[in-house]
Amino acid sequence: MMTSRKLLEQLVAFDTTSRESNLALIDFVCRYLTELGVSYELIHNAERSKANLYARLGPAGRGGVMLSGHSDVVPVDGQNWSVPPFALTEREGKLYGRGTADMKGFIACMLAAVPHFLAQPLAQPLHLAISYDEEVGCLGVRTLLDVLSARPEKPDICIIGEPTELQPVLGHKGKLGVRCEVQGAACHSAWAPLGVNAIEYAAKLIHHLTLTGQRLAAPQYQDARFDPPFTTVQTGVIRGGLALNIVPADCSFDFEVRTLPQDDAQEVVRDLERYAQHELLPQMHAVNRDTTIRFHPLSSYPGLYTAEQSAAARLIARLTGSEAFSTVAFGTEGGLFNQIGIPSVVCGPGSMAQGHKPDEYITLEQLNACDALLRRLAAWMCQPA
Ligand SMILES: [Zn+2]
Repeated sequence: MMTSRKLLEQLVAFDTTSRESNLALIDFVCRYLTELGVSYELIHNAERSKANLYARLGPAGRGGVMLSGHSDVVPVDGQNWSVPPFALTEREGKLYGRGTADMKGFIACMLAAVPHFLAQPLAQPLHLAISYDEEVGCLGVRTLLDVLSARPEKPDICIIGEPTELQPVLGHKGKLGVRCEVQGAACHSAWAPLGVNAIEYAAKLIHHLTLTGQRLAAPQYQDARFDPPFTTVQTGVIRGGLALNIVPADCSFDFEVRTLPQDDAQEVVRDLERYAQHELLPQMHAVNRDTTIRFHPLSSYPGLYTAEQSAAARLIARLTGSEAFSTVAFGTEGGLFNQIGIPSVVCGPGSMAQGHKPDEYITLEQLNACDALLRRLAAWMCQPA
């Protein structure tokens, strides 16, 4: 039997940076499951360069618990590592390597637990999901969810094993990224009023977003379960202009809205579109009819908040021995699982304080504690529902 540590060593050795294929890792998992007699399905991307893996074990029928993790990792480019990132290095009880915390550690524990689950008289099915392209906007899992949502035998509960130091997490904010492109009209800057200055109109739009962010931070919209306790709006990139003596024809900027689960990020965009339509475009068109303001979605994932009284929250409280439910600042695939009717909680080994950083690590103690948690899950799943 392979221990979680041994499996983690194998998983870390695959460079599954999101821009790379994850098929070598998936192939390894397929061979592992096949040796254990577990069948699985692969859901490939259109180019067949990446795949989600879905497996089910235990009794047939509805319900059950899903364990879910993403196989991809963030890049190591430009980071100063003191150990090789795609090999496991053990030092003083810490296991170093890209993805050890986020989140191959959980996948290793989940795979290591399969023989134990198989040996138990489970009263409900165990579902396993491994996705790709999570780190670039929760993209890969969507095709898996399309397949799952069409089936009657969906799991009742999903545990997303993102690193929470095995604390029970019920939610996080959602995120929407948008690019705005302002097309003005160029002219020599000496006759500036004859042109339409794309940078200046972009600045008005950005200022409008700043005001929206301030409005959403008002006390009546706050939710103390999140940090910060309100929806935030932020412009992160801007491009525009050629030379100081030319009125700029083009300016584009990227902004994001990080929403409380109860807020609608699209409402922020619709409000900006109304401002563009009713306030700015008439002024721009008065000078030049060919000027435009366009919006393009970049990426998005929904927020997550699973109720404290839900079966999913009660199960994770039982498994962790803690009802100190919290939220995390990072996003997960959980909101997407929730959207297709699979209530999700977040709980996994390691800490996001080490995720995405050079010399990422997970402690052996966290890995062992996750193994123990999954054994408690197996025992719970043997009870008649
Ligand atoms: Zn992650």
